[in-house]
Amino acid sequence: MILGGIDVGGTAIKARIFTGEGFLPGVSRRWETPKESYPALIEHIAEAVEWLRIQADQSDLPIGLALAGLIDSETGESFAANTPATGQTVVRDLTQRVGVPVPVMNDCAAFALSEAQGGAGQGARSVVGLTFGTGLGAGHWVGGKSAFRHGGDSVEIGHIGISAQLAAFHELPGLKCGCGRTGCYEAYLSSAGLSALGRHILGRDISHSQIIDDPSSEEVLSIWFEVVAEALQVLYLMLAPNIIVLGGGVSQMPDFVIRARSALAPHVLGSLPLPKIAISRFGNESGARGAALYAGRMSRA
Ligand SMILES: [Zn+2]
Repeated sequence: MILGGIDVGGTAIKARIFTGEGFLPGVSRRWETPKESYPALIEHIAEAVEWLRIQADQSDLPIGLALAGLIDSETGESFAANTPATGQTVVRDLTQRVGVPVPVMNDCAAFALSEAQGGAGQGARSVVGLTFGTGLGAGHWVGGKSAFRHGGDSVEIGHIGISAQLAAFHELPGLKCGCGRTGCYEAYLSSAGLSALGRHILGRDISHSQIIDDPSSEEVLSIWFEVVAEALQVLYLMLAPNIIVLGGGVSQMPDFVIRARSALAPHVLGSLPLPKIAISRFGNESGARGAALYAGRMSRA
């Protein structure tokens, strides 16, 4: 079976074919995500659908879409801090445009599915996927299914506030979040958040990749990993998964898993076992792969 997956993030729309027994990533193409225009966003996604059908030479190719943000499972209405899809009915509009329903799921839930099925979380009963990219989000799969959540499949860890204790100890600034609030984990742990934290600590403009590459920015990273540990602690205490798989562009820095693990270790609570912490198997392709697997499931249902 061949499947198609499309991942719509804040920066890029990525389309990819998945083939073979493990649905391994094949040919791909990417487009820049339109920042303002919703019709342009739908047009780009429709182009991606058409491109996948041509690549697979299959007009009824199962294709799934992973989309950043909340998607109401009943109305299809979405709320996305990083794309122009907020308040729009993506499912309905895309179905009208391409002629067939395209299953849509939250991108972090898609990432978690991909890692639970054939990825780093293969074999674990309860798998959380946590992605650090343009935003910060998570998905939770239990026994091969998305853990039921009222109104959508994303675990909105990104919009929980950091602790007052951590903020006071490091004199952290109250960073503005795309959701409209101040002090959310996403405001510190996204790529822009790491950059904002660097600007606050070092007193100069610096990109997240410069912070990662420059050894003199170590102080920024060490505080940043304390915030990472708190976000992991929230997932550990609330969801108690067997494994948390880390992904997203920011997770590709050197020693990410080792540092996340050692930052989390002091947060162990009594006899509640800490989850295993692992890096994603499918990296940047995991979101599109999860959406493709979901489309495959839907086509067989
Ligand atoms: Zn927020």
